[in-house]
Parts: sequence; structure tokens; C-alpha cells
Amino acid sequence: MRFINKYKILVISFFISFSVQAQINFNHYFEHKTLRFDFILTGNKTAQQAGLLKLHQEPVWGGPVNILIDPFDYGEYMVKLYDKKDNNLIYSKSLSTLFQEWVTTAEAEKITKSYTNSIVTPFPRNEAILVLEHRNRENAQFEAFFRMEINPESVFIDHSPKQDHKITKLQYNGDPSQKVDLVVLAEGYTSDEQQKFLQDARRLCDSLFSLAPYDKHKDDFNIWAVHLESKNSGTDYPGIDKWSDTALNSGFWTFDSERYLTIADYLPIRDAIWNVPSDAVMILVNSEKYGGGGIYNFYAIGTADNRLSARVMAHEFGHNFAGLGDEYFDSSTSYENFYSLKTEPWEPNITTLVHFESKWKDMIPAGTPVPTPVDHSDPGKIGVFEGGGYISKGIYRPQDRCLMRDNSLICPVCQRAIVRMIDFYCGREQK
Ligand SMILES: [Zn+2]
Repeated sequence: MRFINKYKILVISFFISFSVQAQINFNHYFEHKTLRFDFILTGNKTAQQAGLLKLHQEPVWGGPVNILIDPFDYGEYMVKLYDKKDNNLIYSKSLSTLFQEWVTTAEAEKITKSYTNSIVTPFPRNEAILVLEHRNRENAQFEAFFRMEINPESVFIDHSPKQDHKITKLQYNGDPSQKVDLVVLAEGYTSDEQQKFLQDARRLCDSLFSLAPYDKHKDDFNIWAVHLESKNSGTDYPGIDKWSDTALNSGFWTFDSERYLTIADYLPIRDAIWNVPSDAVMILVNSEKYGGGGIYNFYAIGTADNRLSARVMAHEFGHNFAGLGDEYFDSSTSYENFYSLKTEPWEPNITTLVHFESKWKDMIPAGTPVPTPVDHSDPGKIGVFEGGGYISKGIYRPQDRCLMRDNSLICPVCQRAIVRMIDFYCGREQK
């Protein structure tokens, strides 16, 4: 009996050390602080460049500590940190940006434009190499286009504290390195409207966590409300010449799309959340207009007081948190050829069928026709429905209706992608 117990322990420890070996030892390479890399992306339809703005040290690291290499092949950009001495890859994380979306608009054929961005990594103990990659549209592979050495002792790394904003813990379930830390950030709320912000934040989060799969994972989240105060109430409405002085300078009519609400300058967002653990940022705008935006590992943004606000925010959060693509295919956006039909899009819930095995092929019954005809008597059917990613031909979605298409519930394929992301931030092995 004793022997069997011992044997079991040996077997278990073998598997534990095996999985740890495949991962990076956080404490060996990193402090529990954040390295913030502020940079500009500048370019047009044909070329782009990245330029350093500033490095900062921030006091909190809230991301995972046992999974440091990005297990998802999502996003348009990837940041990588290598240890300078042993050349080991010690951290990677992918994301998308507003700049990259702009590149797909007609304006990018005529002018060059710049956007600010900010990426955070754990703070390295030793000298490191930071590499920024972007995805080549032709072959969908990441390619390096910016590289710099990081000396953690450098006096050029800004350690200065930023302005403190009141933070309300809407829910706290434990150690930030083992939870999804969701930050809800106020935009367009004056000092007199902070109670309204709290009520709005609670209402939208309650609605999000009433939806599957979030409903079964509420305990996996910490939620932090950051009371950023604005001078004026609301946001910018350029199309009707109505402007407000708000903390993050958000606005509708992005890329001339009335309902597209975004923030072009990322740095004030990062400044506002400098001292709070943050895996995902949800920006709540004090407006009743319909609209929002969501970009993978960048931000989700939506308004508080539209009748559809809760669903819009859940949709945008799907983009921001789980890298979900839009499953709709009307012509309501300003993008041109957003997806190449020659490669598989990286979003887990749309496919060009170029590499469908990497998507939800395992979830559809054998013999399902491609494309799958819409059967209104069976709305829960999983298949390969033509139309998605802003076009009606050549891109396919997993279920006829989903929150990523319209005001429906979240489809099983999107649910699986969300649960995988929750598991990642909670430090659980991918299933
Ligand atoms: Zn879906």
C-alpha cells in the first residue's frame, strides 16, 4: 500500500515536472511587476513601422504566471520577450490594434497615419530582447518588424506613479494571477456621475454573467471598476458636430461608421489603469447612443444607456477577450477586403475552409453538408453556414445565429473559445 502511494506520487510528480519544464519559471525571469511598452504604429495600405515612445515600470502584474507563452495563434500582432543571456523565449502575447483596422479602409490608400499603442509584459529581472511581429496578410504568418534590447536597470524606464483613481472591487474571487481580471473603466462620467457609473457597470456585468458560458464562470473573474472622471458628460458625436471634453476622448463615427465608437489614443487608457490588475479592459461610455467597438487584447467599448447596451457590450467583449470575429455579413462597415480568402482567418469562430481542421470541424456531425443550408426549425444546429466576416461569400460561420452576428445567444463554438480563454487566464491547462 505504501509502495503504491509512493509510486503514485512519483508518477504525479513526473507529470508535474514535465508540464512545468514545458513552461517558463516566472520567478527566475520576472518580478511581479509590469513592463509597459508604449509605441506608435505608423503607415498606410502598403507599409507600416513601429516606433518606441516610452518604457514604464508599473507596480502590479495580474496576468498568468504559469502560462507565459501565448497558446493561441490569434491577433494581428505578437510581442515576444527573449532572455538576452540564454536567448530563451520567456514571454509572448498577441493582440490586434485599431491601426490595423484602419489599414483596411479606403483612406489608407491615400494617406499615412499614426496610432499610439501600449503592450504590457511581466517585468524582466535580467536584460531581455523585445520583438514585435505582425501578421503577413499573404501567408498569415507572424513576421518580426521591431526589435529592441531592454535593460531593466535603465534610467530611461519611467517608474513614476500616475494619477490615482478610485477603484471599486465589483467582485473579488482571489489571486489575480489565477483569475481573469476584468477592468471596467469610466468614460464620459463627471465627478457627480460616479454613482451612476457604478450602477451602470454593475448592470452590464450582471447581464454579461447571465449569458452562457460566462454564467458558469463568474467565480473565475475579479472585476475592478475604475472611477476615471471626465470634465464633460458623454462622448464625441462628430457626424452631428457634438463634442465633449472627456478623459479618454472617445467618439462615434470611427472610419466614418456612425455606430463605431472607439478611442484612437491608447496611452490615457493605460495611464488610468496603471495600478490595477488587468487582463481585459471594458470601457463604459456615458451615452445612450447605439454602438461600440471591440479589438482583441486591446479594449472593448460600449455605451451604458441604449436599450441594447448590455448585448452590444457582450458582443464587443467577445472580440476583445476571446478574439471572436464578426459573424455578420451585411455591408455596414468601412472595411475593404478585411479578410483574405486565400488564408484561414485567425478568429476561432469564422473560417474560409482553408484550414478548417483548426476550427470547429470536431463539433459538427459527420455528413454535415458544406455549406450547411439554414434550417429555421433547428436554430441550434452547428454547421458551416456561408456568410460572415463582413462578406456573404467565401467566409463561413458555425451557427446561423449567434451574438457575434445579431442579438442572439452565444453559439457553442464561440462559447468554447471563451472558456478556453478563461482557462488560460486562470492558469489552467488547455483542453
Ligand atoms: Zn458564434
